[in-house]
Amino acid sequence: MEKYILSIDQGTTSSRAILFNKQGEIIATAQEEVTLIYPHEGWVEADALVIWISVVNVVNECLIKANATWANIDSIGITNQRETTVVWDKKTGKPIYNAIIWQSRQSSSICASFADKKELIHKKTGLLINPFFSASKLKFILDNNPGSRERAKKGELLFGTIDSWLIYRLTNGAVHATDTTNASRTMLYNIFDLKWDEELLELFDIPKQMLPKVNPSVYDYGAATYFSKKVKILGVAGDQHASLFGHTCFKEGECKNTYGTGCFMLMNTGSKAILSKNGLLTTIAWNIDNKIVYALEGSVFIGGAVIQWLRDGLKCIGSAPEVDGAALSVKDNGGVYFVPAFVGLGTPYWDDDVRGSIFGMTRATTEHHICRAALESIAFQSKDVFDVMEKESNIKLKSLQVDGGASNSNYLMQFQSDILQINIEKPCCTESTALGVAFMAGYKSKFFGSFESMSKMRCIAKLFKPSIDKKSAQNACKKWELAVKSARTFKP
Ligand code: ADP
Repeated sequence: MEKYILSIDQGTTSSRAILFNKQGEIIATAQEEVTLIYPHEGWVEADALVIWISVVNVVNECLIKANATWANIDSIGITNQRETTVVWDKKTGKPIYNAIIWQSRQSSSICASFADKKELIHKKTGLLINPFFSASKLKFILDNNPGSRERAKKGELLFGTIDSWLIYRLTNGAVHATDTTNASRTMLYNIFDLKWDEELLELFDIPKQMLPKVNPSVYDYGAATYFSKKVKILGVAGDQHASLFGHTCFKEGECKNTYGTGCFMLMNTGSKAILSKNGLLTTIAWNIDNKIVYALEGSVFIGGAVIQWLRDGLKCIGSAPEVDGAALSVKDNGGVYFVPAFVGLGTPYWDDDVRGSIFGMTRATTEHHICRAALESIAFQSKDVFDVMEKESNIKLKSLQVDGGASNSNYLMQFQSDILQINIEKPCCTESTALGVAFMAGYKSKFFGSFESMSKMRCIAKLFKPSIDKKSAQNACKKWELAVKSARTFKP
């Protein structure tokens, strides 16, 4: 009987289930949108039960599409949007508040009140104090739901990121656990001691009783009894970590960039946890076979989202794939530079107050130049991350692995290769994140072999090589730097 690994990929806007065979090929996929809730300006929430039901639906649909039964499933891998925070009743499994999505800014004032603890938090967690991470979201829930802190102290309420929430529901409430990569994004987990940090728990006033047990990414989390008594959850990792694993960036210095709504670049730094001075985050890449692998991470807030803005805001393209045609209909960017700082700038600036600006327009400028400059802005922002990554790791990168929706733009990928002056490799499997946790689960069950054999399964669909010289690349980047500087001086 043919066996598959089932990957559950729970993302911000949708849940997906994907079946992989022994060759790491996709057999079937199913996807369902998750409706986000915006109760106030800057707040982003979702109903955690809706998330759970969407997962049940896509798992069933995926099996049906593949004409498979649970007997065909070797094991399960779970990957998820990171940092999103859920608190639920231990007995009933009912959430006491909506899931607060990672992007939500409702805990900004909590973070601001801890500004003097910046150093302490960075030294313990590798993170910068910011409402993205779970700690301030969890404090917000406990502060705003009367009696919840007391109930949590009595062990009646549980906290989890989306992986924990799904593990709890999949095991019918038998297992309350998370994995090291997800724990490392809560801002409550000490990435050096590998423990929930007592001092941070006290600081945020979080009862320890409500925290999940932290397990390695490759681990027997228990059977998904909701579906089948026999099928176990054997791999769990946050989405960006899973993607790094799916790209088989197993060696120190290997690096991937995901071009989604935002861009997330992660570099494997091996057993070294490098604390950045330039706005990179330090995180646990994975924890497998008792070996902790660390990563440096940089984030671009507006990546593919700038293409959505061209479509929905400027309305100069009908759909995202049209952007390449628009960009290539002009011979160059016409001197136009676009800083898409719609929500501030991420690494290395971490500037919340800067806003989007377009520079260098003349009477000859058309929307096609703006499309081209928008695509180029994704590559320039990624280069800013890349440069600090190389500097702080002391590693000269030879190539970059890519994935995510906007990596479908050949113009963007070629331009990225040009300004970085390195090769860009796009893998055959476009689902690196889901493949990452399939690899993890399949490594545990021996469905997949060694790291080496998983690396060999990797194939490159497209290779982009630098097509301009170093000097031209440097000149283009100088103009970008000037544009960023100018955008940052104008604070509306
Ligand atoms: P996420 O996981 O963050 O939702 P995806 O990896 O699904 O993101 O990528 C979605 C993004 O990719 C969108 O912002 C969209 O504008 C962009 N995108 C999709 N296809 C293309 C394309 N052919 N060219 C450029 N951008 C694209």
